[in-house]
Amino acid sequence: MTQKSDRQLGMGRAISRRDFVQGSSVALAAALAPRLDAANPGTAGGVAGAQAPAYYPPTRTGMRGSHPGSYEVAHALARQGAQFDDATDTGEHYDLVIVGAGISGLAAAHYYRQRFGDDARILLLDNHDDFGGHAKRNEFHQGGSMVLALGGTHNLEWWQFSETVQDFMATYGVDIEAMRQKMEFNYGEDAPNSPAMWFDESSYGVNRLIPRCHLSHQLTPETIDQIPISEAGRESLKTFYARQDNLFAGLGKADVEALLAEISYPDFLRQYGGLTEDAVQLFHNMEHGSWGIETRALSAGEALWDGNPGIHLLGEPWPDEERNYPVAMWPDGNASLVRLMVAGLIPKVAPDATPDNIALARFNYEHLDQTGHSVRLRLNATVVNAENTETGVAMTYVEDGQLKRVTARHGVLACYHSVIPHLCPTLSDRQREALQYQVKIPLLLTNVLIRNTQALDKLGIDAVNFPGRLHGRFFLFRGISTGGYQHAMENDGPVSLVFWGSISPPEDAIDLKSQLRGSRQKLLQLTFEDFEREVRTVLDGLLGPAGFDVNEDILAITVNRWPHGYSYEYMDLWDPDFAEGEAPHEIARRPFGAMTIANSDAGASAYTHVAIDQAWRAISELPDARVPDA
Ligand SMILES: Cc1cc2nc3c(=O)[nH]c(=O)nc-3n(C[C@H](O)[C@H](O)[C@H](O)COP(=O)(O)OP(=O)(O)OC[C@H]3O[C@@H](n4cnc5c(N)ncnc54)[C@H](O)[C@@H]3O)c2cc1C
Repeated sequence: MTQKSDRQLGMGRAISRRDFVQGSSVALAAALAPRLDAANPGTAGGVAGAQAPAYYPPTRTGMRGSHPGSYEVAHALARQGAQFDDATDTGEHYDLVIVGAGISGLAAAHYYRQRFGDDARILLLDNHDDFGGHAKRNEFHQGGSMVLALGGTHNLEWWQFSETVQDFMATYGVDIEAMRQKMEFNYGEDAPNSPAMWFDESSYGVNRLIPRCHLSHQLTPETIDQIPISEAGRESLKTFYARQDNLFAGLGKADVEALLAEISYPDFLRQYGGLTEDAVQLFHNMEHGSWGIETRALSAGEALWDGNPGIHLLGEPWPDEERNYPVAMWPDGNASLVRLMVAGLIPKVAPDATPDNIALARFNYEHLDQTGHSVRLRLNATVVNAENTETGVAMTYVEDGQLKRVTARHGVLACYHSVIPHLCPTLSDRQREALQYQVKIPLLLTNVLIRNTQALDKLGIDAVNFPGRLHGRFFLFRGISTGGYQHAMENDGPVSLVFWGSISPPEDAIDLKSQLRGSRQKLLQLTFEDFEREVRTVLDGLLGPAGFDVNEDILAITVNRWPHGYSYEYMDLWDPDFAEGEAPHEIARRPFGAMTIANSDAGASAYTHVAIDQAWRAISELPDARVPDA
């Protein structure tokens, strides 16, 4: 095996990659500083204040998403039971304080104004250095031009929108039809040899790229012959892909569905598909992007519904190979939606922003949190306590290493369910348990800015799955010209290659929640260098033969890690059927005094439109009138 050295992989090269010093122990010490010394101004991770004139986080590269400095305070609270006493009262009093400035928190601000008037005074608090929650944008600046990329939330599944969400989008000028027309991007499925599979030397003994090879398409014997697993494994695949069967012909539809809901997809492939173990392993990270979990956590029914192969064993024809996923997208994912919302709520931040220029509009972060604005958005502020008071609510948060307190008539918790019991220790046991039922799904999105697409074009590929690697897949991110940004498919300059998926949990993590927690722990333990080495190894092995030089052709790397990614959705193998109104998310989101709960967790569904619907519900559940100040 020819394992390359760090030097050969170009690890020492000067690329745009670091803003923060790695090292969670240093950061954690800083996070705990308020307890030790409330006057200590040091912030975990050394983030500059959002008021600094040059403050513009989308251009930061290196470790983003859950970036150093964003999570240490919450972890100290939730994992180590840190006490945060003696907060300084800022003297600020609002109509509403919202915890979390993701899509749901921002939508909650919108609906609050709709319900209580545009003059309502609102404060949003968020632990990150940028707004948007998962909907973040990565900007790369090269040779005077900007390349946009998504840092988290990708797209709009508009066909699932409720009327509430349709109205919301119309208010912000989001025209799905027009967006669709300005998109050629199809998740890298359109190049002549895409999608392809790549097998790497350290996992499979050989570096091999197999064009037009996707496990969900009907593979030919010639394609299967190239897959570097055992002879028996290849034979089992050939038989599986050639079969046309109706295994459960004697059973009714409901019985078949029940059977498929009780067996894991890998077991289905073993027992009914006749695949050998090494053939089954090819499928293990196929769903890292779509579901964020291993296929072993999916039932056969869920996997087949999502297009994984097998329905040809149930009397159905092979599905059409053309993947039509007709989403609407901006060139920074749903970060442009967030920008539209921020510009609407705090016009001074981006006075010239319109739906037509939103991807390019200049945002001045100095104006996010200014006295005199009815809506204020405070970044780098982690809430550690939310309590009901006689006149409303009080929120305690850590900002710049200092413990501060604000009050309001109303509160909306638009943060993760699992953190809420730590913020609100007086919640009932039932509600706390329900909130903690939801364990978020870790996700990973690493943007690698490459000099050009020549090597990919030469190979005729723009999306590749790699079952042996840390990220399960990459796709080229080009061909989206919405929000004023232009990036044609044939663009021959720098472009982002998106390494996408989740992290495989340890093998001994059996139940789903152990898998999610194991995956999260691994994700947080990996350093930027680990990701950089991984990306360089993959690009060297995969694209090197087509002329890609990892020493010269990688211009920047931004790792967007999301240890708390998708909301938990109920799964066939792991969750019972809950009676209406009794599902954990329904119990979890019940109003609590003058506080209500938003976030996509509250809908147990990981979508932007769900985050908006939940914000609407949370605002409508707030106690009625604008009660007078005490
Ligand atoms: C990588 C990735 C890709 C995705 N792709 C899609 C997609 O294509 N389409 C789609 O519809 N959905 C997608 N999603 C799902 C996404 O979660 C939702 O669409 C939506 O962005 C969720 O918004 P939210 O406001 O509910 O939650 P979040 O975005 O999680 O926002 C909550 C905010 O609250 C903050 N917070 C938490 N605790 C505290 C605290 N104690 N103090 C202060 N702030 C706190 C969080 O850090 C966060 O900033 C994706 C998610 C990820 C991670």
